Amino acid sequence: MQIAIDGPASAGKSTIAKLIAKNLDFVYCDTGAMYRAVTLLAKKNNVDYDDSSSILKLMSEHKIYFVNKPGGQHVMLDDEDISDTIRTEEITNNVSQVSAIKEVRTELVEMQRQLANDVDIVMDGRDIGTTVLPDADVKIFLIASVAVRAKRRYKENIERGINTPLDVLEDEIAARDYKDSHRKISPLKKADDAIEVDSSDMNIEQVVKRITEIINKNK
Ligand code: C5P
Repeated sequence: MQIAIDGPASAGKSTIAKLIAKNLDFVYCDTGAMYRAVTLLAKKNNVDYDDSSSILKLMSEHKIYFVNKPGGQHVMLDDEDISDTIRTEEITNNVSQVSAIKEVRTELVEMQRQLANDVDIVMDGRDIGTTVLPDADVKIFLIASVAVRAKRRYKENIERGINTPLDVLEDEIAARDYKDSHRKISPLKKADDAIEVDSSDMNIEQVVKRITEIINKNK
């Protein structure tokens, strides 16, 4: 069974997708982490974020993969655990530029489809229902207002010792939404057969409950 969860930045996709995967004992795949890892790879090698040929070369020379540990899924770049470094502001604010590169998407979409082969999976991202897994059994488009998403990001940041003002976060989230939904290839967009869930006024438990009901109806 394939469950696709798409939506804009900071809508809670990965929190919800992880919980659903855990409850159903499905594999979880965070595709945003893969685009973030490629962005970090460019940064580490002083390659410009729009230099597609150098980025592709780096992708062919390095390995990006997931490992499951008791505390959750970790993202690896070769032997290095990059789970935290891919979440810095620098990566967050530049990932949309890297993810707009056609060849980067082709490579990562292929990897994502392979990960989904022969397992029950919950995959979250921007183009899962439209491009990566167009035949997914359940497609969710998870949204929330920019104000609510910025507040959630603000709270997360404070817990991690980052102190970006709320209005700056609102601007950053809106800018990333704009770039992700206006790029040429696989823009962020609700698939025709996706079910929209607006989590603006819902807590995590309520969203998980709502999506679980949708999944049960489609089983
Ligand atoms: O989900 P997350 O915020 O970690 O995604 C980071 C970025 O990766 C997005 O803003 C988007 O540019 C890119 N992305 C994408 N396609 C996906 C997942 C993420 O283009 N399927």
